[in-house]
Amino acid sequence: MSTVEKPDTAVQTNGGRPEAGQIPVENPATGQIIGHVEDMSAAKVEAIVARARLAQPGWEALGFKGRADVMYELRHWIVQNRERLIDIVVAENGKTREDAMLAELFYVCDSLGFWAKRAEKYLADQRVRAHSPMLLGKKVVVRYRPHGVVGVIGPWNYPLTLGFGDAIPALMAGNSVVIKPSEVTPLATMMIAEALLECGMPEDVMPVATGRGETGAALVDHVDMIMFTGSTATGKKVMGRAAERLIPVSLELGGKDPMIVLADANLERAANMAVQWAMSNSGQICMSVERVYVEEPVYDQFVSKVVTKVNRLRQGVPGEAGAVEVGAVTFPPQVETIERHIGDAVDKGAEVLTGGKQKTGAGRFFEPTVLTNVDHTMAIMTEETFGPTLPIMKVRDADEAVKLANDSRYGLNSSVFTRDVAKGEAIARRLDAGNSCVNDALMNYLAQEAPFGGTGESGLGTRHGRDGIRKYCSSQTILITRFGPKREPVMYPNSRRTTKLFEKMMVLMWGRKPK
Ligand code: NAD
Repeated sequence: MSTVEKPDTAVQTNGGRPEAGQIPVENPATGQIIGHVEDMSAAKVEAIVARARLAQPGWEALGFKGRADVMYELRHWIVQNRERLIDIVVAENGKTREDAMLAELFYVCDSLGFWAKRAEKYLADQRVRAHSPMLLGKKVVVRYRPHGVVGVIGPWNYPLTLGFGDAIPALMAGNSVVIKPSEVTPLATMMIAEALLECGMPEDVMPVATGRGETGAALVDHVDMIMFTGSTATGKKVMGRAAERLIPVSLELGGKDPMIVLADANLERAANMAVQWAMSNSGQICMSVERVYVEEPVYDQFVSKVVTKVNRLRQGVPGEAGAVEVGAVTFPPQVETIERHIGDAVDKGAEVLTGGKQKTGAGRFFEPTVLTNVDHTMAIMTEETFGPTLPIMKVRDADEAVKLANDSRYGLNSSVFTRDVAKGEAIARRLDAGNSCVNDALMNYLAQEAPFGGTGESGLGTRHGRDGIRKYCSSQTILITRFGPKREPVMYPNSRRTTKLFEKMMVLMWGRKPK
């Protein structure tokens, strides 16, 4: 199979200089502009959706097997072209090669196979055994049919996993998908869209609508369902706009995920997890560890372990595999948020044990930062920071930790560390979050059989599992009467005799309270 054009040259026009209506794409680790993409107008989005609508019936007609073949072909393509694809993800996002490899390519390959294999089972017709005596002898079937054209709007922190990753089940369900990557990181998605054509996907089944927020808003105006991943503020706008047309939405939004460390925890593991999942992708993960609550007896020991480990992290321009642990801050305004949260915390008495400022020189890097003496009057404990920060708070006991963990408008992921797993699970069940881990963090995302989603302002709906594909369909319940009498008891004319009969039935069936 041939390969696509080198992505940076493929998207550049006019010798690399932007044309009017184009958006520059920056490598945040070097500050260089690596390409330009079109800032699509609302009219263009409308036209793209119209073409996707025309292409959808042919794609649906391929059946699960035909669609799965394309997914398997793409999986093979990704493995063959992994170096080029990783290069582009690293270049537009500033993340490490390891993060691009594992959290993007590995996840997407796994996901392609997962949905290719399971879509048919999750969407198979379901025979329902109706309990009502009125339906005796009748057949009830539920079937799932694709919405038509699904709009997928993605963020910049995981351009493939959180954009194309959501398109996979939508496509396997038989929809066309118009995908709107973040204007900050559109290149990897464009590369995948080109690759899909090579892999046998018909034209216009998964077009890419590049552009800023207005392009995303225009998409909401034309598609049949919207899958949005991004900030809570934008998610609310998307839902408001979707409400105008009453189209279904699924929202994966921000988080302020807590980690609880109990006195009996394996502290070494807990500290490794805290550092890994607070600093990975420079903390730009919706389910990063954003705040930690540690029981008093082990607090000092835990803090000391964390600081030692954070001080060992190498940060810089992601080069070869194994070169650095922490890459760049992808999105320029994110630095202001990180600085504001640290500044506010320090003003209110927090102590910065390591890090605390943006690095000077080329590229956009923020030092991995550990803070103590923090409390819930500080934004760093209540608002999403989305940066390489780890605020650690001392708590009296597990009850106080749970109370503080739940003192949040978000509810995405959460974790508890203790050697007593029964106690850990009991605490996990008390956390107001869509997902909880005991002695682990984030790994639940790989259980694609299980739903992943947020409560509160972290979102609506879930991805993964049965519901993660049924949401891309509408259900149709079909009732079939094969051997029906000419007249059923409930039909006209009304008679005293039949009414009395039903009354007797009612008394017989439900007249006594259950014991
Ligand atoms: P964002 O909300 O700024 O943008 C997300 C996408 O929405 C972009 O493609 C953007 O162009 C588009 N957009 C902007 N305005 C729009 C509008 N009015 N209508 C339609 N689309 C519009 O988010 P971001 O900064 O790209 O991503 C970071 C945020 O995403 C963080 O809050 C993070 O927690 C969240 N996130 C959540 C999950 C999850 O699964 N829950 C995963 C990753 C990121």
